[in-house]
Amino acid sequence: METKIYFDNAATTPVRQEVLQEMLPYFQDFYGNASSVYTIARKSKTALELARKQVADALGALPEEIYFTAGGSESDNMALKGVADALQKKGNHIITSKIEHHAILHTCEYLAEKGFEITYLDVDQDGKISLDDLKKSIRPTTILISIMFANNEIGTIQPIAEIGKIAKENGIYFHTDAVQAVGHVPINVKDMNIDLLSLSGHKLCGPKGIGAIYIRKGVQITPLIHGGAQEKHRRAGTENIPAIVGLGKAAELAVAELPQTAEKLTKLRDKLIHGIQEKIPYAKLNGHPTDRLPGNCNIGFEFIEGESLLLLLDSAGVAASSGSACTSGSLDPSHVLMAIGLPHEKAHGSLRLTLGHYNTEEEVDYVLNILPEIVERLRNMSPLYEEFLKKQKS
Ligand SMILES: *Cc1c(COP(=O)(O)O)cnc(C)c1O
Repeated sequence: METKIYFDNAATTPVRQEVLQEMLPYFQDFYGNASSVYTIARKSKTALELARKQVADALGALPEEIYFTAGGSESDNMALKGVADALQKKGNHIITSKIEHHAILHTCEYLAEKGFEITYLDVDQDGKISLDDLKKSIRPTTILISIMFANNEIGTIQPIAEIGKIAKENGIYFHTDAVQAVGHVPINVKDMNIDLLSLSGHKLCGPKGIGAIYIRKGVQITPLIHGGAQEKHRRAGTENIPAIVGLGKAAELAVAELPQTAEKLTKLRDKLIHGIQEKIPYAKLNGHPTDRLPGNCNIGFEFIEGESLLLLLDSAGVAASSGSACTSGSLDPSHVLMAIGLPHEKAHGSLRLTLGHYNTEEEVDYVLNILPEIVERLRNMSPLYEEFLKKQKS
């Protein structure tokens, strides 16, 4: 069956119509290289600088503090490897958390092989780090704190301003992977004392393969991509103007509409969460009940496999995601769900539904309608559930 309902907006989002319209002229009409001097190239240059301003405004940053990259993963790599390289004489210690995206965790593993020391902070059962733990983990050799703004699986939002304050007081750079947060929750890099921030186009209704990194003026960082003089020598390569234009427009729209979108999605999210918990027994919310992304619903269902749940939802036309790292083809339970203390079997029975710009209340109602039956069907095939029911009776 074709996908009728797309509830996987944390994985990626469709490009909005308004965004696509802005992008189209830059493929065939205004194709000039932004580094050239003739008229058609100046069109590209103007568009590039407008997009830089749009992204800067979305973060409360200055345009000259925004550098375009090929996505969230590249921005994360640049922040970590770039700061590690630039500050290696000062120290070799980096603090991060156990629930970061793999673009952070695998980069940290790489840096650990190169001699850097990494502290991975624990999170509590709601997915929050402890500020006390953070303070205690700081050493004289600490050069960077990298804590994500909001988690892509369970939606938990970290106390970013408080982390920024601690970093600043200790003279340590603070990077945040804000790929899930930009355009979804209010951000101001100055008020929050953020030194570096990663964002990505395709998580906010912009195109894939484009992102940006905010680097506060004065931050020392080594480039990841060497070559031409683009992006003030910090990121070489001819700029992907259509995608940059799309990212700028998407960021502008998302931030302009943020209050309304957040209100709408929070309502839909809570209807989904409460509806599921009312209709389905042994279903528990994963992540923080209130400090969470407006569109994120992540529920653990006991006695079933998330993978089977996904297949049945797919055959009912619903696209969703589960608690195992299925994208990588592995059946390991998610490191995020393990970090909030779920045992393997509960991590495997988790379902992530993430709502976005185009979702409606009718779609939420449809899912609330079909999900109880699907869960019941799967549980009835589960020997564990049978055993559990027997025990209940005796
Ligand atoms: C999607 C995502 C990334 C990676 O961004 P890409 O643009 O896909 O490379 C990094 N961090 C988080 C939290 C994400 O959700």
